Amino acid sequence: MTKSVTLRRPDDWHLHLRDGAMLQAVASFSSHFGRAIIMPNLVPPVVTGAQAAAYRDRIRAALGPKMTLRPLMTLYLTETTDPADVLAAHAAGIIAAVKLYPAGATTNSASGVRDFDKVRGVLEAMAQAGIPLCFHGEVTDPAVDIFDREAAFIDRVLDPIRRATPGLRVVMEHITTSDGVDYVAGNDDIGATITTHHLVINRNHILAGGIRPHYYCLPVAKRETHRLALRRAAVSGDARFFLGTDSAPHPDHAKESACGCAGCFTAPNTMSILAQVFEDEGALDRLEGFTALNGAAFYGMKPNQDRIRLVRRDTPAAYPTHIPAGDETVTVFDPGFPLYWHVEDPA
Ligand SMILES: [Zn+2]
Repeated sequence: MTKSVTLRRPDDWHLHLRDGAMLQAVASFSSHFGRAIIMPNLVPPVVTGAQAAAYRDRIRAALGPKMTLRPLMTLYLTETTDPADVLAAHAAGIIAAVKLYPAGATTNSASGVRDFDKVRGVLEAMAQAGIPLCFHGEVTDPAVDIFDREAAFIDRVLDPIRRATPGLRVVMEHITTSDGVDYVAGNDDIGATITTHHLVINRNHILAGGIRPHYYCLPVAKRETHRLALRRAAVSGDARFFLGTDSAPHPDHAKESACGCAGCFTAPNTMSILAQVFEDEGALDRLEGFTALNGAAFYGMKPNQDRIRLVRRDTPAAYPTHIPAGDETVTVFDPGFPLYWHVEDPA
């Protein structure tokens, strides 16, 4: 008998669509999502409401009239962000959230925040207006081991900011550790996104038997105990945890380099992978909560009204190993197991 699950159309609460030729190449691969929170770390970053509106228009043009994905824009928080511009962009429906990158934490984060006192005014305005703050949750102190940077961030930055700014709604993005899971599960006014790839890989996938740059991402995948904690959180039914793929395409030459870029491109096969993960965990009935209900509730939005169907077939779904992007190629994330779950999208 064919196994199938019908879900409300999922949302992706953390997505990189890039710009230019890369945007044209990757936008359609997220089209079975209803909405996506679009990351602002372009070069230069999206820092004003006007820039967010212009970027939204470029995304809509790349998607074309047939695709229904709704881009939810974010602003890149800098030490000179104007609180009035943030409030106006939110009131006008241009942005759904603001993103905080500690300076130097990841791809294109050089304009990020060094001195957190300088953004206090913006954060207080956001708390009052109910605008969520999305964190890239890693410290950038070179003295902190890269595998410990998320845990250090919770103690040094996240918890102090939350205490100093009561009512600020925060999303700890792409959590990778049991420390992140425990902190989020023990607090209110906080949510966490979990990526597809962090449910699948641990650090051995990157480093054992040779360096595999297509599994390198930030925050970097941790040891197996942390991956298992993430899987438990994702399937727990706790509404604080929801899907943010962090699908982050880079041209292959930039990944396969002496200093390779961080990011996994998971947009094409994410729902097939997640269906397998949730089936393996005996939690297919919770896939809808993780992908289509919890994130919408956190952001104060209604779940999508339409639905997609996932069908488990005897033959694996055929996803490309690479996609073309202008003159480049982008490698699609390989979960390392066959994907028997097919996405049937009526749209
Ligand atoms: Zn990201």
